[in-house]
Amino acid sequence: MTSLRLQLDTVAVHAGRDDLAELGVHALPIDLSSTNPLPSIEAGGLSYEAMASGGTPTAEGGAVYARLWNPTVARFESALASLEHAEAAVAFGSGMAAMTAAILATTNGTGRRHVLAVRPLYGGTDHLLSSGLLGTETTFCASTEVAASIRPDTAMVVLETPANPTLDLVDIRAVVEAAGDVPVLVDNTFATPVLQNPVDLGAAMVLHSATKYLGGHGDVIAGVIACGDELAAALRRVRAVTGGLLHPLGAYLLHRGLTTLPIRVRAQQANAQQIAAWLQTHPGVARVHYPGISEDPHGLLGRQMKGTGAMIAVDLRGGYERAAHVTSAVRLFTHAVSLGGVDSLIQHPAALTHRPVTPEARPAESLVRLSIGLEAPEDLIADLDRAI
Ligand SMILES: *Cc1c(COP(=O)(O)O)cnc(C)c1O
Repeated sequence: MTSLRLQLDTVAVHAGRDDLAELGVHALPIDLSSTNPLPSIEAGGLSYEAMASGGTPTAEGGAVYARLWNPTVARFESALASLEHAEAAVAFGSGMAAMTAAILATTNGTGRRHVLAVRPLYGGTDHLLSSGLLGTETTFCASTEVAASIRPDTAMVVLETPANPTLDLVDIRAVVEAAGDVPVLVDNTFATPVLQNPVDLGAAMVLHSATKYLGGHGDVIAGVIACGDELAAALRRVRAVTGGLLHPLGAYLLHRGLTTLPIRVRAQQANAQQIAAWLQTHPGVARVHYPGISEDPHGLLGRQMKGTGAMIAVDLRGGYERAAHVTSAVRLFTHAVSLGGVDSLIQHPAALTHRPVTPEARPAESLVRLSIGLEAPEDLIADLDRAI
């Protein structure tokens, strides 16, 4: 599909469906086979070999085994790649499985084991990198320190924008330039391809916790990385060997979810804009962190990110006590981690999502994070007003 010439909304509905007419179906088929009949030892073996080294199945040999290839997952990957303006995408069983694969793919066999990570990051990513679990060494730095922190053995630069939970915007193009030849991975979970396409700014890999906006209904846990063909092969190889797979039922739900992604994100964003503006006037609120309200010294809103998104962080007057009260007093907001679904959530990053982060880099105790859903904004405002 010549997706780059079509508008995002059209791509979201049609991408990854090229083979459906030929199959004689209209809805996305779900292939649950764990194994596939082999036409011959020779054909199966050659296809196996192609996939084990990161390639795609041969027409003669087929998928062989579902840890190597699944057509339902492959269709979702193709759709996400189109939305992110990338050559390919590789899906995983969670955002963290995707991040793990990115680290393994860029460090193994490259003679490089250093990762440069721009803070703040999602707590799980921060934890994975600081733990050294995968045999890497990580330097955490500010976005302005990338050039000075790159080493000869740096395998990858990781950044997140808007960052979780402060919603700071990081200049992707500036980091890509500072990184030189080193591939930059951008976690695009908060922005979604509706609001931001890091590949257009030079990012080598675009990671999503598909659990969040891509799924959008709080019923799938998944991760995906959009990238060029070469990195995709390395990621598929890691996936085939380590087995961090996305199940085809999850891939089906994600692919179906993509069709409404643009309208969901825009509608949730419109709600969030109204709620952020209201929060700013509330006497119980010390500070609202939201693109368009927070400082944007590099003018990234509108240039790098097309919209403000639907995530808000709020510093409450009264610190931890107040945050604890608000999270338990809300009725429409669910007190729960995760984000990006059609229903609104509230959580306390310092105690939950960012608990594993070193104390110096942990979010403030007074901070709560809101994921704004599709409810009527006046109802959400009334709920927050009662609670705060
Ligand atoms: C949730 C999240 C992740 C981790 O994804 P999982 O699907 O939970 O493994 C990574 N990055 C960001 C920004 C997230 O919000």
